[in-house]
Amino acid sequence: MPLGEFELIQRYFAQVAEASSDASVVLGVGDDCAILTPPASRQLVVSIDTLVEGTHFLPDTPADLLASRLLGAALSDLAAMGAQPAWLTLALSLPTANAEWLKRFSERLAELCLEFKIALVGGDTTRGPLTLTAQVHGFVPEGAALVRSGAQVDDLICVSGTLGDSRAGLEAQLKGVEQPGFAPYLSERFFAPSPRIALGLSLREFAHSCIDISDGLLSDLAHILKASGGLGARLQLEALPLSGAILKSYGQDQARQWALTGGEDFELCFTIPAEKLANLAHLPVPIAVIGKVTQAPDICLFDRGIPCEISGSGYDHFLKQSPVE
Ligand code: ADP
Ligand code: MG
Repeated sequence: MPLGEFELIQRYFAQVAEASSDASVVLGVGDDCAILTPPASRQLVVSIDTLVEGTHFLPDTPADLLASRLLGAALSDLAAMGAQPAWLTLALSLPTANAEWLKRFSERLAELCLEFKIALVGGDTTRGPLTLTAQVHGFVPEGAALVRSGAQVDDLICVSGTLGDSRAGLEAQLKGVEQPGFAPYLSERFFAPSPRIALGLSLREFAHSCIDISDGLLSDLAHILKASGGLGARLQLEALPLSGAILKSYGQDQARQWALTGGEDFELCFTIPAEKLANLAHLPVPIAVIGKVTQAPDICLFDRGIPCEISGSGYDHFLKQSPVE
């Protein structure tokens, strides 16, 4: 028997909503709207992300991987603002009501909601080409959000984790997993990004500016520099944090290229005064200092002190072909 829309929501999403809900959710899934109580003296921080089959992922990608990719990307935006995750709404356009797909998707979704303490409070489900949209809501104390516009000359430029892995993981998808040198770790970095929520919360107190790396380091850093009044940067390529997996599978030149221009790493790039850096030493996530903010407005690259250039800057949906098309 085909599943109706109401039954589908009840069977696959009402439980996730109930399991992830907390006292701030007065009324969750089931009515025309959710009713939510924000905590006193907090600002609401909101972001929305969409994944479209053929643009962001290949057809037949397993549903659990889509759940982690969708939530990872959306939560990463909250991390970049220094926000504590609170509520999630989910819009799905599905070609068919496939019970196996819905089970895998909703089970992974439930795990992620519990892990990141975000409550599913509503959504929309329609028939159509496979498209997944997550809107996330988080909180910051008034005026405390991390923004792109606060970078200052001489700030250190830092990034969390390792860069380029997600682009390398995409390459593995495009070329097929039988490719020699393929590392499952890289695919995992593409499909299951680690939103740096705890780092974002800590950075509120110390960083001058922050962005999450979704389009590529050079492109996203340029957003910070532009928003901060037209500043520039000196970057040391030898300081780029590269995973053992990317170096082993693709070599240093390719790894550096992807670290600079490959998108969707969902690591944080932030600027911080040098004397504040030690405050981050206790965090479990590795942090690399990769350069400095300059008054001169360009991004200049150096390899062990020698100026160098690379081609390309980042990913733009409307300027370039999507890598999966
Ligand atoms: P309406 O027609 O009034 O917009 P819907 O029939 O679309 O309501 O949805 C019914 C309820 O189910 C609403 O509370 C809505 O937020 C929730 N809902 C629909 N789809 C989803 C989903 N994919 N995930 C979570 N909640 C959903
Ligand atoms: Mg509706």
